Amino acid sequence: MWYCSQCWAEWGEGVSRCLICDADPGPPEVFIGRLAEALDSGNDALIQRAVRILGHLGTREVVPHLIAVLKISDNEFVLEGTARALGAIGDRQAVAALSDTVRSGPRAAREAAAVALATLGATEALTDLRRVEKVLGALGLHAIEYLEGRQPQPPAFTQEPPRRAVLEGDPTVLLREYSNRPTCPICALMLEDISGFLAQWPHLAALFSVVRERLRQSDGFCGEHLRVVGEVTSSQGLGAVLSAWVAHVAQSPAGASNDTPHGEACDPASALPGIAGCCPLCRLCMIAERRYLEAINGLVNDVSFREAYSAGRGVCMPHFRCLRSEVPPGALRRWLDQTQNAHLERLVIEMRSYTRKHEQRLRHEMTHDERYAAIRALRKLRGNPTVKPGISASREPRC
Ligand SMILES: [Zn+2]
Ligand SMILES: [Zn+2]
Ligand SMILES: [Zn+2]
Repeated sequence: MWYCSQCWAEWGEGVSRCLICDADPGPPEVFIGRLAEALDSGNDALIQRAVRILGHLGTREVVPHLIAVLKISDNEFVLEGTARALGAIGDRQAVAALSDTVRSGPRAAREAAAVALATLGATEALTDLRRVEKVLGALGLHAIEYLEGRQPQPPAFTQEPPRRAVLEGDPTVLLREYSNRPTCPICALMLEDISGFLAQWPHLAALFSVVRERLRQSDGFCGEHLRVVGEVTSSQGLGAVLSAWVAHVAQSPAGASNDTPHGEACDPASALPGIAGCCPLCRLCMIAERRYLEAINGLVNDVSFREAYSAGRGVCMPHFRCLRSEVPPGALRRWLDQTQNAHLERLVIEMRSYTRKHEQRLRHEMTHDERYAAIRALRKLRGNPTVKPGISASREPRC
């Protein structure tokens, strides 16, 4: 996983340039420098993100700077994030400042500082911790018990379930894992990449003008993806982006393109460097689809994968057509055709029972597979519309 040095977006190793602002990964020390500068920006949202990243990277050289934030800031969330980062970095220089936070910080920051002190094994902070024992929560009390030797492990914050960064991980491993999904594994993986993108994009758009500017240059999102963006976000990020976009269109209403050509006919090869005129999510779909198609193409040579794939539900029809056009005629292509056929026939049988039981009011007799047969049939025939299956196959360069 890597961070964009310009807009701080998180990407997997399958992304070579930032898909939000088009920046190169760049040298890590420049990025650390930007994060350190942000600590003095006075913008609390920006500081929060910077300390989170610094904690994640475990950057020791910024510890004095983080300590300064802990002393100066009066924002509860900044203080909490900074205490967490100092605990994660694990440098004992921070003990005195964390003890101060335990004594006089706001509630959430106290708790985070107590956890950090326990992580640092700072037994010298026990007096301070015991003094505020009554206002500490479960984690703070755990920290005291740990430092007193009454708990074997230091306290830890409940972690959010780890989210895969966009295009992160070995695609062949992922496809093996996803081959027993009820719907197309390629669509499912692309959908996860989209949700990874949308999990960070509105937030970054609110923080960085470079993100808003890039979206303006790309002429916004296409219709389908704007719908998805609208569904997942209601934040200031969406507002910031839409206002930049509207302002852009207002400059030349007649010249603004409508959304139909977006992504429908983009060449993935030219899609990467050139942002103008292509919806960012369509661009992501193109890159992701190429990556998974290439990986599945290599996997069909593997007997164990073929077995797992046959036992599953296979790919959607658009992805089947993409895949088939790339497998040379011969035994493998025959296997692919037969497997797709078998998957479709299984669906035909399920659809028949689904329809019959629906008509005869026997819904209570439906099996789990039958109950979801209609939606699966829809996905089998068309793929998931959000990922625009087959997007990377159309090659007229428009982006
Ligand atoms: Zn970026
Ligand atoms: Zn698909
Ligand atoms: Zn799009």
